[in-house]
Amino acid sequence: MSDKEKFDDTDFREVIQDLEVNQEDREDGYEDICYICRRPESKAGKMIRIPNDICICSDCMQKTFDSMNNVNFPMGDMGNFGNMPNISMINLSDLQNLNMMPKKQKLKKKKAKEEKKSEPVLDIRSIPAPHKIKASLDEYVVGQEYAKKVMSVAVYNHYKRVSCDDLDGIEIEKSNMLMLGPTGSGKTYMVKTLARLLDVPLAIADATSLTEAGYIGDDIESVVSKLLASADNDVERAEHGIIFIDEIDKIAKKKTTNQRDVSGESVQQGMLKLLEGAEIEVPVGANSKNAMVPLATVNTKNILFICGGAFPDLEEIVKERLNKKSSMGFHGELKDKYDGEENLLQRVEVEDIRKYGMIPEFLGRLPVIFALDALTEDMLVRILTEPKSAIVKQYKKLLSMDEVKLEFEETALRAIARKAKKKDVGARALRAIIEEFMLDIMYEIPKDDGIGMVTITEDYIEHNGGPLISMRGCLSMEEKAGAAGI
Ligand code: ADP
Repeated sequence: MSDKEKFDDTDFREVIQDLEVNQEDREDGYEDICYICRRPESKAGKMIRIPNDICICSDCMQKTFDSMNNVNFPMGDMGNFGNMPNISMINLSDLQNLNMMPKKQKLKKKKAKEEKKSEPVLDIRSIPAPHKIKASLDEYVVGQEYAKKVMSVAVYNHYKRVSCDDLDGIEIEKSNMLMLGPTGSGKTYMVKTLARLLDVPLAIADATSLTEAGYIGDDIESVVSKLLASADNDVERAEHGIIFIDEIDKIAKKKTTNQRDVSGESVQQGMLKLLEGAEIEVPVGANSKNAMVPLATVNTKNILFICGGAFPDLEEIVKERLNKKSSMGFHGELKDKYDGEENLLQRVEVEDIRKYGMIPEFLGRLPVIFALDALTEDMLVRILTEPKSAIVKQYKKLLSMDEVKLEFEETALRAIARKAKKKDVGARALRAIIEEFMLDIMYEIPKDDGIGMVTITEDYIEHNGGPLISMRGCLSMEEKAGAAGI
């Protein structure tokens, strides 16, 4: 038998068995991905590992050698393939120069089936009851009582639905949410807090960056890819995660346009199947699909989608509807009755949002709709001091490391809240304002070891004076209390 015949007879799949690395021995729990076809180990089968951490699946290896066989080249010298035309050989030295598969593109292995049964990712018994979820939210989020209640129940039901089987034919509907609320009212913050409390992965995406597939911008499916990344490429964990899509009002249907609405209505259309639940092929570790990124299949059936938006001008639509209703009949009311009302969004109905430009199919897939309150001055004061990691608490802690006591007069806190309210960006203005006033204090205090206490006064905030500085040892307990405005 000639060398060539010997080579033709060889089934490469058998030969490589000797080379295969025993994958079970790998401890990091991540799958290998074929360097050529980019399929993960779970799809392509076991991989051959060659130097520099490169893996190649047996199919690709076989194909490479098959293509070599189809070209009649002299097999006398097996080690020297020479300059053969039309053969794409794996050139090891090329691979060495390239960056190897980045870790972020590796997929976490799915757990074995038996293991899954004995230890579900989310066990209904471990999901806290709605009142407990709300109580935990209360520690971080000030006010927004109604929103917290709705969210707690929706999340509870969602994970109950995930863990139940529909053997009796009753399938529980998904409780995706639509959250309306002015900017800075805590939409993102609430979702983030919730995901942390439930210990589920969270992806936050901006609807403005999404476009229909094929246009400049991120594909709609990239949100799932983000979730997979935040779940450390663990598909199973990602499938129980939360996706928050902010600025959803920006993808409302454009009213006057004769062009294709690639970033508005089309995005809503594109999101339908995601919201409902579908098997999505997502790129691992990248925003778009291309030949160089491996793909993973994620089922969005059990992913909780929360959409949020400020919906400016929606209040006008609500007002118009309310006015229409109330001006009819004998008991007609004045047209400007609702003009001064701050929380008109609380009275929103699906019909109003549809008028705003969201398509009915989209709204139909977000059954839980609720609005957040606009933050009042009182709420802003509470946000400054009450949450677990409130800004004031953070500064107090920072100064206490220098053994300096920091106090805020009640009137100073009010003055900060007043200033923040004027900026109209909700609680977001608070940090900027406080930082401006604290800068000098944080700079000067460490200079003088004698300083024992600093009190921020209303005058300091209103630029009519400075903070009260008390030296160490000079203050009696009462004076300290007085300086703190207690
Ligand atoms: P948006 O509604 O625009 O998404 P964010 O959630 O980003 O607003 O809120 C901005 C910041 O304001 C948050 O990081 C959080 O610290 C603070 N904040 C807003 N609302 C509240 C609230 N109700 N309780 C506590 N902090 C809040």
